[in-house]
Amino acid sequence: MTGRDDSKEEKITDLARRLAESRETVIFTGAGISTESGIADFRSPGGIWDRFDPNELSYPSFVSNPVSRRNYWQFYREYWKEARDVEPNRAHFALAKLEDLGNLSAIVTQNIDGLHQKAGNSPEKIFELHGNMWEVRCLSCNDIYTWNDIFQLLEEGKEVHSCRQCGGLLKPATVSFGQSLPERALREAQRLSERCDLFLCIGSSLVVYPAAYLPEQAKNSGAKLVILNREPTPLDGIADLVISGEAGDVMSQVVKAVETRSF
Ligand code: NAD
Repeated sequence: MTGRDDSKEEKITDLARRLAESRETVIFTGAGISTESGIADFRSPGGIWDRFDPNELSYPSFVSNPVSRRNYWQFYREYWKEARDVEPNRAHFALAKLEDLGNLSAIVTQNIDGLHQKAGNSPEKIFELHGNMWEVRCLSCNDIYTWNDIFQLLEEGKEVHSCRQCGGLLKPATVSFGQSLPERALREAQRLSERCDLFLCIGSSLVVYPAAYLPEQAKNSGAKLVILNREPTPLDGIADLVISGEAGDVMSQVVKAVETRSF
């Protein structure tokens, strides 16, 4: 085994020990935890921003311009089609196992794919900062519609109707550029970041704010900060442990070590 592999193994053991000894662990996930499931992240080559113009998908464009709205729905039609059969991967299942073992207090996620729920983590322990793509909501009265009904309309080439309760605009329940984050999820995520003693970031570029303030907030409040990513991130310099690797591979080894107490 090479020296580099040895040090990675030591880091995996180190993370397992930290998880086992932690009083309260918050795991913060980004698009990188879902790439192994086949959902592209935004910033890696071939990611979504290589294929769509982010300005076209902004909230101000959506609410003010019917053409942008139509493009937005086409984006979602494609996204739903790509993601509807996607399954959780080893990294999601590792987090579900950590919850079963009693070593995870909460997941704060920037992801909108619902894969943490699908892997088996309890919904009340998951805080979705950027919403969930499997719901459509009225922007005025918050009435909920199922994604599949709207998807069928789009597949038939029809326009998305307005809200049947109040005539407001319907939009997937995800946060677009220029749109506020869901208040309760953000408030809870801040509270959890301030009081946890271990904050583990998995597969996030840590450049999308305000979500990326949370690791800094946790660190400033006294938590140990661990970052797992296949690339360097801007917060590596303040982290107590940085593991460079694939989320599925690393987290399955980490959880096995926690389970067997091999650290
Ligand atoms: P990002 O695209 O900015 O960064 C993803 C990070 O994950 C990168 O740093 C990349 O190096 C790393 N990565 C990719 N695959 C990995 C793997 N297998 N193992 C370890 N690291 C890996 O994503 P972000 O930080 O979450 O921010 C982007 C925004 O995009 C979020 O707001 C999120 O809502 C949204 N988004 C969500 C999904 C999803 O729900 N699955 C997918 C794309 C984008």
